[in-house]
Amino acid sequence: MGLPGTVSTSSRYARDEGIVLKKRDFSEMDTIVTLFARRRGKFQAIAKGARKLGNRFGASLDLFCVCDFFLYTASGMTNIVQTKIQRSFRDLLREWITWIGGEYVLYLVDRVLEEEKPEGKVFDRLIEVWKNMLLVRGDELKVGLLTLWFRVVLITSLGVTPCLSECISCGRSLGKEESFLSISQGGRICRYCARSGQDLLPLSPFLGVVLLYLFSHSLEALLRLRLKREEFLFFDRTVSAYLGYHTEKKIDPLFYFLEQVKGNTYNI
Ligand SMILES: [Zn+2]
Repeated sequence: MGLPGTVSTSSRYARDEGIVLKKRDFSEMDTIVTLFARRRGKFQAIAKGARKLGNRFGASLDLFCVCDFFLYTASGMTNIVQTKIQRSFRDLLREWITWIGGEYVLYLVDRVLEEEKPEGKVFDRLIEVWKNMLLVRGDELKVGLLTLWFRVVLITSLGVTPCLSECISCGRSLGKEESFLSISQGGRICRYCARSGQDLLPLSPFLGVVLLYLFSHSLEALLRLRLKREEFLFFDRTVSAYLGYHTEKKIDPLFYFLEQVKGNTYNI
């Protein structure tokens, strides 16, 4: 038996702090849970008896709960033996925007991260995003900015941060000027180096500067940004497309989820 709190392939017992990304029914009694844990990263585990009324897991497998998971692995399958709720972010359910924003970051983790790869920093950032979503309450732009920041965190953790302060073609330092973004080449291109036929997104001076700001400033500074609805939607689309291109997966923008719930009536 491994020591409590250790995670290795040889230990059959382990303890890890984690959250449920998604779950599905496995049998009449059991549930398969996709977990994101601080030390082990993303993986699947079985919660035996989780579908029974009054089961031992209580609310711990519900949305927005941070728990201590006691795990047992045998024959390649991890069982959730016991859970203890550390912190609940259930208040995210109180406002539709924090509900969707809170679930959107789970969607991103599930789509982007590989299984069994420790991502402790991303885990901490996710908790930071949830905490801040509760602080900004129903401010739709700020919730949107928090999901944008989390996408920047994922891009950075994947090691594919775009080069935004200088032209990736000629190396000239770029200020507040017309430029282009090349998602495939991973950076900004100046107006002198841009060639037709390249897959380029035009960036106005303002959009270029804000894009650089997104990737180079703290969360607190980011939350001070004032963006118009169409500006936010540009970054929502563009940063998701960037993440999708570099992970070779389709990453829907937050907008896609907002639209499904509220049609066209949201304010960001
Ligand atoms: Zn250039």
